[in-house]
Amino acid sequence: MFDLHGRTALVTGSRGGIGRAVAVALARAGADLVLHGRTDDLDDVEKDVRRVGGQARRWIFDLADTTAIPEAAAVLPEIDILVNNAGIIRRAPAAEHTFHDWRSVLDVNLDAVFQLSRAIGVRMLARRRGKIISVASMLSFQGGVQVPGYTAAKHGIAGLTKALACEWAAEGVQVNAVAPGYITTDNTAALQADPVREPEIRSRIPAGRWGRPDDVAGAVVFLASPASDYVNGHVLAVDGGWLAR
Ligand code: NAP
Repeated sequence: MFDLHGRTALVTGSRGGIGRAVAVALARAGADLVLHGRTDDLDDVEKDVRRVGGQARRWIFDLADTTAIPEAAAVLPEIDILVNNAGIIRRAPAAEHTFHDWRSVLDVNLDAVFQLSRAIGVRMLARRRGKIISVASMLSFQGGVQVPGYTAAKHGIAGLTKALACEWAAEGVQVNAVAPGYITTDNTAALQADPVREPEIRSRIPAGRWGRPDDVAGAVVFLASPASDYVNGHVLAVDGGWLAR
């Protein structure tokens, strides 16, 4: 049910914390990988993927260039599993959050996801097979603290996931999302280092600890595999119980 041999998976932002763990977990389940980065700095993750027996190709592209995505994606091989993982965050109170920062976050975290899901989704629809998994957030459900652009984008991911799932479920393409809680990566480096916020966050997590990238990877493997063939439009929280609180 969880076997991914014969499948090709593209993980955007595969150099980063969650992206790397997801790429390695998919390879361990048998998938061939297309690793993606803004730059070609992918040697380490490629080694990790090969160590667990996976094949790895590379796709280098800056997802901030949203209008160029359809053309850039045309060079990709047939993708069976698309993981929209790449993302950025800009922290500032709404009154000081510049429109430039807002735009940057919306471009990478939402517009690029729509563009890439459509470019690859059309090809999945033609083959009547595919899995699209986007990385959402607790801030797909909650307002968050001084990250208005990020919160808007991640709420958008939850909506887009459901919208695409409704249209494509009958065509054999499952569209879902994972919503990580607080995970120890570069994305949360400022929070992990904050002597006030860090203990506040940890004490609110029922599991009593921050998540690790591998915690998210297992949920992505599930949503990428035949085990989830009847799961459509779901946003799966992987949060140590944060939302249950
Ligand atoms: P990360 O370590 O900072 O990884 C982010 C990845 O996105 C990096 O590989 C980065 O590439 C890539 N990226 C950023 N902008 C890009 C662009 N313009 N073009 C191409 N690639 C780009 O952070 P992470 O925590 O693993 O984040 C992965 C996803 O999880 C994001 O969508 C994030 O919002 C989401 N998430 C994280 C948490 C958490 O607690 N960490 C919680 C909820 C959701 P470079 O290395 O080249 O910058």
